[in-house]
Amino acid sequence: QLPVIYFVTPTYPRREQIPELTRLAHTLLHVPRLHWLVANDRDRCDKFLDNMLNKFGIPFTYLASPMPSKFRNTKPAPRGVANRRAALQWLHQRNLTAGVLYFGDDDNTYDLRLFSEIRQTQRVSMFPVGLIAEYAVSGPVVRNGKVVAFLDSWVAGRRWPVDMAGFAVNLAYMSQYPNVNMPFKPGYEEDLFLRSIGLRIDQIEPKGNNCTEILVWHTQTKNKKSPTVRIDSALLNDRFN
Ligand code: UDP
Ligand code: MN
Repeated sequence: QLPVIYFVTPTYPRREQIPELTRLAHTLLHVPRLHWLVANDRDRCDKFLDNMLNKFGIPFTYLASPMPSKFRNTKPAPRGVANRRAALQWLHQRNLTAGVLYFGDDDNTYDLRLFSEIRQTQRVSMFPVGLIAEYAVSGPVVRNGKVVAFLDSWVAGRRWPVDMAGFAVNLAYMSQYPNVNMPFKPGYEEDLFLRSIGLRIDQIEPKGNNCTEILVWHTQTKNKKSPTVRIDSALLNDRFN
């Protein structure tokens, strides 16, 4: 039987949330043996999102994972970190030691071939991500079938200068590292997470035809603030009471 892919999606309430999750669900509907962990940046789960997720018919778990309030107004804020930590905790609590973990944000674009590639991950697999920063790509450099270096426009002292969408982890491998962690450190989440699972460069499994193909893109949706809608209570009372 195919290993299960645990697809972890941080998401947060804003007016683009429903279209983003709809689009992502319509990708995931094509993928067999996938469990969708939808971690919402909110202090509780609500019926609306639960109903919506139910209707897609994808096996899923809906988690409430608010960003701690002390980070809310920091710039940059640790976006999606509380969410991913909640998913890591969920996996840990269930002693899930089979399957593959992948962090898939709600606004990225995923080629269906990505899923068959990452499903075979033995320890940690890596592959390029399109539309990252200045170079418009971030990913491993491969020589003779081995990862030897990384290309990324913002290395910033990272041992693993990769994007969150550029790797997958086998859960049996990850379970050997009890201190697995993703700290609230904007820009360094991937690096510190990968450092916490004792990875060596020669162990990395390059995917996407030796990292020559882009199967995931860091697309970003133009955000707009929701308008503040004022409801005139006098008018409401007048009409409806
Ligand atoms: N996110 C979140 N809370 C926030 C901002 C973002 O949970 O306050 C989620 C978002 O839905 C996405 C991930 O964290 O899945 C990364 O955020 P975003 O896509 O905005 O970051 P970028 O792609 O610009 O780095
Ligand atoms: Mn994004």
